Amino acid sequence: MWRGRWLCFVLTLLLVLPLFVACGGAARQSKLYFDLFDTVIEVICYREDPDFDAVCARIYQTLKAYHELCDIYTAPREGVVSLYTVNASAGVAPVQVDARLLTLLQFCVAQQASMGNAVQVTYGAVLSLWHTARETGVLPDAEALADARTHTDPNDLVLDAEAGTVFLRDPAMRLDVGAIAKGYAVERVAEMLVDEGVDGYLINAGGNVRAIGPKQAGTPWRVDVTAPSGASALGRVEIMEGAIVTSGAYYRFLEVDGKTYSHIIDPTTGMPAERYASVTISVAQNDLADLLSTALFVLPEQEGRRVAEQYDAQVLWVYADGSTTETDDFSFKR
Ligand code: AMP
Ligand code: MG
Repeated sequence: MWRGRWLCFVLTLLLVLPLFVACGGAARQSKLYFDLFDTVIEVICYREDPDFDAVCARIYQTLKAYHELCDIYTAPREGVVSLYTVNASAGVAPVQVDARLLTLLQFCVAQQASMGNAVQVTYGAVLSLWHTARETGVLPDAEALADARTHTDPNDLVLDAEAGTVFLRDPAMRLDVGAIAKGYAVERVAEMLVDEGVDGYLINAGGNVRAIGPKQAGTPWRVDVTAPSGASALGRVEIMEGAIVTSGAYYRFLEVDGKTYSHIIDPTTGMPAERYASVTISVAQNDLADLLSTALFVLPEQEGRRVAEQYDAQVLWVYADGSTTETDDFSFKR
């Protein structure tokens, strides 16, 4: 998921940088980070903030903590217990984890059913086969896929809040929080800034955008939604506050024999979801937006509309053929 891959980084950079339309005159302070969540993270502030560097340092520390806790690909540094550790202990013993990791998993479990079970953090065994496929360019073996799907039962994830432990009852089960980690971490940053009374910041973590207060007094942030071709913006959304998150099939995918396979997998089939090129969510919180964008990428539009309504979320669906549709109140401007 976030093993540093140069190509992925460059493509992500191209995707992320055109997201914002500059507003004439105002001084723009910004910082880019390249070493978290296998993506590019940008922090922007147009307000004159003498503390900008210090605020960015705190933002970075918070994001880095979640990056380390959620990493499933690399063994953690000494003193850190991560999802890598939890996965390695599947079927062996409950693992004492950082309270932040337990809370993240509880959040996912609590939301999954309301999102049609289209996103499941216990789907790691299947997701890792598709991850390897993207690295090797070879489709997963059908038998291996069928077997992996039998090791994804959400009931085999045991979260013990009192003991502070996580246990995977099934030895072959693996957790993967790629659908939520960035958005969850960014929302915790937003909470931190609100607590500190800091506003006028915007964070973009690889397509997970969160505005904390308006750009300047009375001025909204203008967030471009990139066209699936990546060539130009499809349109833009203006927000004073809140989250805009896009899940797209266009920068992390597998291509075999001219057919492209997205990195978002439909749990009802074990195969990549292929209805849409992208799904963009506008909702107050970034953690919900991140889960919703992945879930709605999987769900048929009508089901997605029902889910979105429950969360008071606005949605833009871009179908694989380029046609688009959106919820009634989405202030999306072409
Ligand atoms: P996002 O870019 O936020 O839509 O998340 C995509 C990532 O979520 C993938 O790279 C996988 O790690 C993970 N993922 C894909 N499909 C699913 C699924 N159905 N349930 C849970 N996680 C998924
Ligand atoms: Mg997501």
